Amino acid sequence: MTTGTEAAPRKTGRQLRIETRERNPVWKNPPLMIDMDECINCDACLRACPKPLGAIFNHSIDVIIIPELCSACDKCLPVCPVDCIHPDPDWKPAPDEWWETQAEDDPYV
Ligand code: SF4
Ligand code: SF4
Repeated sequence: MTTGTEAAPRKTGRQLRIETRERNPVWKNPPLMIDMDECINCDACLRACPKPLGAIFNHSIDVIIIPELCSACDKCLPVCPVDCIHPDPDWKPAPDEWWETQAEDDPYV
């Protein structure tokens, strides 16, 4: 039975990261980035990124990693045929347009 006074459940995980646009602070390794000069747009990395993380997107003609969603789990690394995914210790927050891409067409939901 509900009383109508319960607080809404607190969002966790990927949904929280999307809403706050913040990385999980327990992730100590830097997020990964894709070198677009080398990428051949095969989408293998996008399919390899685990759904609860869901960090890789097609953005126009580029394939991008939203750093706030990337745990550095490295599951995308072995599938890349051209080895163009690298750690990005100097990562910057994703631009608004990357988040708009995520909101408009999220392949992980
Ligand atoms: S390191 Fe993991 S979370 Fe980050 S983009 Fe690759 S598969 Fe996704
Ligand atoms: S697996 Fe490598 S080449 Fe293929 S889309 Fe991802 S980054 Fe680009």
